[in-house]
Amino acid sequence: SLSDRLGGVFDRLRGRGALTEADVRAAMREVRVALLEADVALPVARDFVDKVTEQAIGQNVLRSVTPGQQVVKIVHDALIAMLGADESSLLLDVTPPAVVMMVGLQGSGKTTTTAKIAKRLTQGSLTGRERKKVLMASLDVNRPNAQEQLATLGTQVEVATLPIIAGQQPVEIARRAMQAAKLQGYDVLMLDTAGRLHVDQALMDEMKAVADIARPQEILLVVDSLTGQDAVNVAQNFSDQVPLTGIVLTRMDGDARGGAALSMRAVTGKPIKFAGTGEKMDALEAFHPERVAGRILGMGDVVSLVERAAESIQVEDAERMAMKMAKGQFDMDDLRGQLAQMRRMGGLGALAGMMPGMKKAQGALAAQPGSDKMLIHMDAMIGSMTAKERSKPELINAKRKIRIAKGSGTTVQEVNKLLKMHLEMSTAMKKIKKMGGLKGMMAMLG
Ligand code: GDP
Ligand code: MG
Repeated sequence: SLSDRLGGVFDRLRGRGALTEADVRAAMREVRVALLEADVALPVARDFVDKVTEQAIGQNVLRSVTPGQQVVKIVHDALIAMLGADESSLLLDVTPPAVVMMVGLQGSGKTTTTAKIAKRLTQGSLTGRERKKVLMASLDVNRPNAQEQLATLGTQVEVATLPIIAGQQPVEIARRAMQAAKLQGYDVLMLDTAGRLHVDQALMDEMKAVADIARPQEILLVVDSLTGQDAVNVAQNFSDQVPLTGIVLTRMDGDARGGAALSMRAVTGKPIKFAGTGEKMDALEAFHPERVAGRILGMGDVVSLVERAAESIQVEDAERMAMKMAKGQFDMDDLRGQLAQMRRMGGLGALAGMMPGMKKAQGALAAQPGSDKMLIHMDAMIGSMTAKERSKPELINAKRKIRIAKGSGTTVQEVNKLLKMHLEMSTAMKKIKKMGGLKGMMAMLG
């Protein structure tokens, strides 16, 4: 496993103070091989390794895990941050009918996934509790019987399909489907489009024309998770042509190593909303970044390993924090440690008011729904900072803010919020130091 391979690189290192640049670079060569073996596209693997290298250099060597394990942990966390949080919901809050359009290569699983999602919607999952009245329409006039295939699945999942009229073209079918959905009071219209064997401009134009007519709330790119190096091309081509809102990875029940997930995320920046896990109509799951990270790293034991590393990081972080606070220092790495701890302890809401100086920042954050998602965003933002920026946040000027926002899939406003929160916390720490109340505060932190 990657862990074993890194063990070799790091044998000499144990007991030294910090991960050195040379050691980290040697380790990252192994990580790069592991990523490529997991089918991560080359340019994506390269970018990822560069980013993580910067994060890892200079980190303190933990006492209770090996440096190899520690690097695995750093890589694992970075993978999860990049793969993104669970976002397996559809935004269909519009005057009905809301339109969901499925696009992708032929055989990727569009038709199957259309019916799977439709079934969930009629059952009231995916969009809160409310059961949706759903109509499905196949625009696939290329493959013989494609429209019948969807009709058969519709019968199976008890979802209506648009009656088939022979000879109609996709744009006409889309128009008819919109009209039927409106007249018959459907909440959601799902459009299953024709596949492409490879990226073909005529079909791309057809897809764009359909999107222009139907104005979908969601355009989901369906991708076979077994797609290898080609994933980047597929993602780039589709996202250049239509405004994708999310990705569905199918065949996650097979032996895909998960690399396509990372490539798709990196190229489109869109959330992976679902994972297809079989041919049956129930085989649709939320996307679990930690499972995919484990697969990419190729380790069955990655979870326990990472937990162990996390525990020891927690202990050593607390010690380091105490020292820093005693000196009146508190940088972005410290804030990141605190954020991770908050997530472990049940999110911002649960913690509101526990830490002095955090009250104000937390109150504001916890008042908003999805504040735990914000913790994840904050972690991603700090992850997109260089080591220098993390230790000296005052370096972060407007240009750097834009880069950080881009790198973390957030906005400059969010970066500003994070910087403000950091400033408030470090000010509070300095005050505490002045008051000599460090011991009491550490007790509160646990
Ligand atoms: P389309 O051409 O994109 O519409 O693809 P289809 O929906 O027709 O799917 C092609 C084949 O893949 C069918 O045999 C499906 O049953 C199968 N399939 C789709 N999704 C999954 C999945 O998540 N796991 C597995 N094992 N098979 C799937
Ligand atoms: Mg199909």
